[in-house]
Amino acid sequence: MSTAAGINVNGIELTLDCAGLTVLIAGTTTAARHTVRRYTAGGATVRRIATPAQFQPRLLDAVSLAVVMDGATADRTMPGYSGAGGAPLGEQDWEPLRAACRERRILTASEEPATTGGRVTLIGGGPGVEDLLTVRAKQALREADVVLYDRLGPYRTLPQLAPGAELIDVGKTPGHHPVSQAEIEKLMVAKAREGKHVVRLKGGDPFVFGRGGEEVNTCLAEGIPVTTVPGISSSIAVPAAAGIPVTYRGVAHAFTVISGHQPLIDTEFEALAKLGGTIVVLMGIGTLPQLTSGLRKAGLASSVPVAIVEKGYSPEQRTTVTTLGDAVTAAGRARCASPAVVVIGEVVRQHRDFSATLEHVLAQPLGAS
Ligand code: SAH
Repeated sequence: MSTAAGINVNGIELTLDCAGLTVLIAGTTTAARHTVRRYTAGGATVRRIATPAQFQPRLLDAVSLAVVMDGATADRTMPGYSGAGGAPLGEQDWEPLRAACRERRILTASEEPATTGGRVTLIGGGPGVEDLLTVRAKQALREADVVLYDRLGPYRTLPQLAPGAELIDVGKTPGHHPVSQAEIEKLMVAKAREGKHVVRLKGGDPFVFGRGGEEVNTCLAEGIPVTTVPGISSSIAVPAAAGIPVTYRGVAHAFTVISGHQPLIDTEFEALAKLGGTIVVLMGIGTLPQLTSGLRKAGLASSVPVAIVEKGYSPEQRTTVTTLGDAVTAAGRARCASPAVVVIGEVVRQHRDFSATLEHVLAQPLGAS
């Protein structure tokens, strides 16, 4: 079990080692549920009060930190979150608790209460490492009751990012059969209907070949509130990890991102060849032969440089630099495999061995896997 819980001091995130600490958490069961889970998972002994009326100074004995559910933007009219006489709770209601903490020099922290009612947040998880998640994505993960994830996002550190949340791998089941899109959406809706905050964590950006649009539409059709958090798409970040900028002044003033999931048709190849610029292909390993021959037929020279960047931002990241004419042979020889981003165009000449930078990234603590 991890022995740390995140805390934010004026916008800076700190990790508290909570093992053996007693933490008083003030707020209703619903409002405090994520906070209680986080500190419990962090190894703290949690003491609870639901309303200001329950506060007594002796409850602070042996307490090192008091956490109050009263974030400034909280909806205090939510069910189960009202103060004496049914009036909404305000900051001042917890003032006796805060004053007693000040007197005893006990740290106090404020947190946004968790909301009630089921909802879904679609998160773009970036190319697979925790430190390329956005601040907003991390916040949503902290507030998740359920996380549906696959292995393209930063799934290894989910137990720390979403402590106590139910983690469901929808990318693979034990029999290695991916959960179908329909099943994922059914699960998402069912969990939200139970009143839970469901986070759907996707690789890269949720709206770039991620079927995120379909998931949003399903939620809307079912009347479930849904929000999305954009993510860093592998279409830009994975070339960058190999030192390849997708645009470069005087070299490429456009880049087109295509899916290799299904082969393109001739008119698409012709349009691509005519447009010029960089071509970035996701899911392109399986259809590399059709892709390279289609582009050559459409007029691209066989000498156009190609980079195949596999497993970006992982210790196994590898870049194979070749040409349009040789790409299939080179990929076969190097046994290139998914996930990989294929970059086609003159910008590939900018390829740099970024292994030093990569090592720096990998040296960051990634947490337990
Ligand atoms: N929504 C995602 C793309 C999903 S399609 C995004 O915006 O990045 C899945 C494809 O993304 C993979 O087949 C591969 O082509 C690419 N991909 C995602 N993460 C990758 C990584 N870390 N390294 C290489 N390719 C990656």
